[in-house]
Amino acid sequence: MHIGANVSIAQTGLLRAVEESISYKADTYMIYTRSNRGGQAKPIEGFHRDEALALMNQHALADPVVHLSYLVNLASPKAETFEYGVMVLSEEIKRVEYLGFKYIVMHPGSHVGTGMEQGIKRIAEGLNAILTGDESLFLCLETMAGDGSKVGNRLEEIAELISLVDHKERLGVCIDTCHNYSAGYDIVNDFDGFLHQFDELLGLESLKVAHINDSKTPFHSNKDRHANIGRGSLGYEAINYIVHHPAMQDIPLILETPGGYYKEEIALLRGETDELPPDGKSADEGM
Ligand code: ZN
Ligand code: FE
Ligand code: FE
Repeated sequence: MHIGANVSIAQTGLLRAVEESISYKADTYMIYTRSNRGGQAKPIEGFHRDEALALMNQHALADPVVHLSYLVNLASPKAETFEYGVMVLSEEIKRVEYLGFKYIVMHPGSHVGTGMEQGIKRIAEGLNAILTGDESLFLCLETMAGDGSKVGNRLEEIAELISLVDHKERLGVCIDTCHNYSAGYDIVNDFDGFLHQFDELLGLESLKVAHINDSKTPFHSNKDRHANIGRGSLGYEAINYIVHHPAMQDIPLILETPGGYYKEEIALLRGETDELPPDGKSADEGM
C-alpha cells in the first residue's frame, strides 16, 4: 500500500512537502503547485526539485501527485473561463513535467447550467487543444460527489469524456471515496461491485490515483464534505477494506481529511494502531 496526504508547499516548495510527508510516515504525497485563490503561480524553478527528489529517494517516497487548481473549469460556457483553464492547465503540465512527476489530478468541470452533454463536449474540446500526446504524465479526471452541475459524478460521464479526447493514452482516473459514496456508489457494502463497474466502463488500468476520505454526510447525499477516517458515514472498516484491496496496491492513495491528523490516519490504515483519529472540525470542501 502506498499512502500519503495532501501537503503544503508553503515557503520552501517541495522540500517542505517532503519533510511533512516523512513526519507522517507516508510513502507518497499530493500538492497544489499554485494557490486556489488565483494569481501568478510561483516559478517552478524555485521548488528545490533536486534536493526534494534526493530526500524522497532517501525516505522511499514515490509517485507524488499534483492537484490542479479548482479555478480551472474547462466545462464553462464563458469563453474567458475556458481560455483561462486552457492556459493554466497547459502551464501546469509543463511545470509538473519539470518536476518529473507522473500524475496531475483535475476536477472535470462544472457546466453551470448548459447541461451535461454540452459540459462534456466543452471539456473534451479543451483537452484536445492542450494534449499533444507527447506528455510524460497522466492527466487524471477525478470522480465527483454528485452535485448538480459537476461533470464526472457518474463513471459513464468520465467514460464519455475520455471517448471524445484524441490522446486518451495521456488520461487516467482518480477516484475519491467520499465523492463516490456521496454520489450514490455503495462502496461501503460493495466496493468490488464498484470496481467491476469501473472496469467495464473505464478499464481498471486507467485507475491511477485514489483519494481516501470519510464523509461527513450520508450515503447518496450528493455533498462533498470530507471527514476523518472512521469518523464519517463510510466508517473505518469499509475504508480499511478499500485501501488494502489488491486493485489499490500499486497506486498512490491520498488523504484529504480535515484537522491535520494524517499521521494518525496513516498509522491506523497501516494497522500500527487501532485508535481512530479525532473528529476534525473543518471540513475540506471541494477537494
Ligand atoms: Zn471532495
Ligand atoms: Fe478528492
Ligand atoms: Fe479533488
